Amino acid sequence: METITDEQMHALLAVAKPYTIVILRPGPNRQADGVDATIWERGRRNMALRADGRLAIVGPVGDADVSGIGIFDLDLEETRAVMRDDPGYGPGCSSASSTGPGAFPGTRCPGDLTAGRCIPVHSRGEVAERRRHGARRTRRNPCSRHTPVADSHLMWGPGVAAWWHAAYRRVVRSSFATVPLYRERWALDGRTDPVLVAGRAGFDGGAVSSVEIAGRMADLVPIGGGEAEVDRLRGLGFVLPPLGDEALVVVLDTTGPRPPADLPRGVRGCVLDPDRLRSDGVSSAVAAVTSRLRRGGPVLAVGSDKHLARLVETLPAEDAVALDRLPVGELDQLDAGPFGVLHDQTLGFLGSFGECGRWHVDWRRVHVRETAAGLAFTLLRQRSPRLVDVLVGGGVRGRVGPCPRHATPVLLT
Ligand SMILES: [Zn+2]
Repeated sequence: METITDEQMHALLAVAKPYTIVILRPGPNRQADGVDATIWERGRRNMALRADGRLAIVGPVGDADVSGIGIFDLDLEETRAVMRDDPGYGPGCSSASSTGPGAFPGTRCPGDLTAGRCIPVHSRGEVAERRRHGARRTRRNPCSRHTPVADSHLMWGPGVAAWWHAAYRRVVRSSFATVPLYRERWALDGRTDPVLVAGRAGFDGGAVSSVEIAGRMADLVPIGGGEAEVDRLRGLGFVLPPLGDEALVVVLDTTGPRPPADLPRGVRGCVLDPDRLRSDGVSSAVAAVTSRLRRGGPVLAVGSDKHLARLVETLPAEDAVALDRLPVGELDQLDAGPFGVLHDQTLGFLGSFGECGRWHVDWRRVHVRETAAGLAFTLLRQRSPRLVDVLVGGGVRGRVGPCPRHATPVLLT
């Protein structure tokens, strides 16, 4: 067996990505007359899904409990949509459950359907290559990346947990190499997970306080250059509940941030200053909200409890009842829901309150770890300013663990 080094493991873990597994079981009508023909047509459809790159691995299993498996190169919602059209569902010949492993793009099973039971996996690169050569273009739901945080549990598994940790370590290493503040801090004091200077564990594992970095944004820009200003509404689109098309998201904020930039397609966003609502009672922004509500369009107001109350007072009572409200909480004042999103002035939106009654982290974009000074947050996808291991809310003690119901990371403060 080939020896795999730590470096090779890190490199592989860093590219692991989530797929969705579907396990097909015989349904109540599996033995009914004519079902074999339906199953045959399902096979034809699976081969077409395989040909356009959506179904990476498919094959029969053929024991009494499990008829087959499919591994989709799609997220959970996209996979559900594909399975809803499966000809075997309506007549009850099959039932299915899905779960999400992590896997390495390019992973292959030996052989193919004619030689064995598996079909080779196509990595995204291979799929793109085949598209360039005229294969049918795969349709993707443009908003699939906006799956609500707490509902994305089925994509989480040991492989994705490893991806989360590896992505974090990759950000740490690249920040140590290119970002002045972290270079200075970790070279002098050291840090943990990963340890960058042998024998030096740093203070609080190398975490930095949000107060300290607030005045040093220029030192958080990588050497190659980039933004020195934080986007206070970063990540809002990823923590919102599902919104209808044409929804309007109204962010209540007194500091005049830029409007939210990452809302799902079809959703508009604007910012209102709650301190100026009364005097601006006839402003165009308030008029737009009122007119939208009167036409029955969905409007979601996002802000602190106090600011939400102020907006409700400002609107005519008959319009205010139609307003959806989403309270924003900071880490040091997390409540027990039943709704809400977690925000930090520097890092933006970090997670949301799940229907399970727990605060879920937006784990695709945000990493959290426990340190002696409190929970430290890292933005996994933001190049600049680079925000790594930031102690938000002045350092709030807490734990990170898997949600017993969703298995994705939740905050226990
Ligand atoms: Zn949960």
